[in-house]
Amino acid sequence: TIWNLGSINADHVYAVPHIPTPGETLAATALNHGLGGKGTNMSVAAARAGARVAHLGAVGADGGWMIERLEGYGVDCTHVQRREGSSGHAIIAVDAQAENAITLWPGANREIDLDAVKQALDGAVAGDLLVTQNETNGQVEAAAQARARGLTVAYAAAPFAGEAVRAVMPHLDLLVLNEVEARQLSEALGTSMEELPVPNVVVTLGAAGCDWIETATGTRHHVDAPKVRAVDTTGAGDTFTGYLLAGLSEGLPMPRALELAARAGALKVGRHGAADAIPSREEVEAARF
Ligand code: ADP
Repeated sequence: TIWNLGSINADHVYAVPHIPTPGETLAATALNHGLGGKGTNMSVAAARAGARVAHLGAVGADGGWMIERLEGYGVDCTHVQRREGSSGHAIIAVDAQAENAITLWPGANREIDLDAVKQALDGAVAGDLLVTQNETNGQVEAAAQARARGLTVAYAAAPFAGEAVRAVMPHLDLLVLNEVEARQLSEALGTSMEELPVPNVVVTLGAAGCDWIETATGTRHHVDAPKVRAVDTTGAGDTFTGYLLAGLSEGLPMPRALELAARAGALKVGRHGAADAIPSREEVEAARF
């Protein structure tokens, strides 16, 4: 099982001619409401890849539809908590070049009851995997507890905060970050990716693919991304990470899991949307790039 302490968001996606500049009022040309949040996207991606996924998180009073949608993708939501107040949500502007700008309200994602998370993780067994991102509370507590139980622990350093990575890093087997986050982390810590105290570091490079760094030996391996026409990069990293974890939980060696993740990420950027645009395993296997 992949346990995901992750955010659950409503995504309100506005198509705009360009990203609004300060002081500008701009009419959007289309509006879509979807399921999003880095946590949700990763759960959906891992489930669509064929993994068993149990989501640990919280929604507000308005979040029933999001749990239903997650369950519709095969994600176990038994441990998703209900909170008073607003669910997490994101206001997303996407321009004609597929660039985006996002305003986020964390809501219930930052009000997760950690005792309940600990109880849920009592059901985890060695060989299971825990993933968290920086959109919930309780990242360090969950990572520490999962590590103590013999789980593989992965962390996506997004949205980036140096302090959050620093705190969770001692408990990790795998750290996934994009190029910008990797640069920010290097600057915050004054070290290179090769020197991080995490066995495996994956740096995603957008259309250029990704690098996998084995820190024990300081070895850097590159994996190319398939060539595609990108229309919406929302959730590319989450799709990539969800598929990567699903591959690893199947027992695929890292290079094969990365290749699978790169194929899934490439299909995602060819489609509009977040969680709802994540490709299925069949689509990923069948794709010819
Ligand atoms: P994030 O979405 O977190 O910023 P990236 O932009 O690095 O992360 O994208 C994550 C992964 O998604 C990449 O490593 C790559 O495999 C895939 N991907 C992203 N953009 C493209 C693209 N334009 N073409 C092909 N694959 C892409």
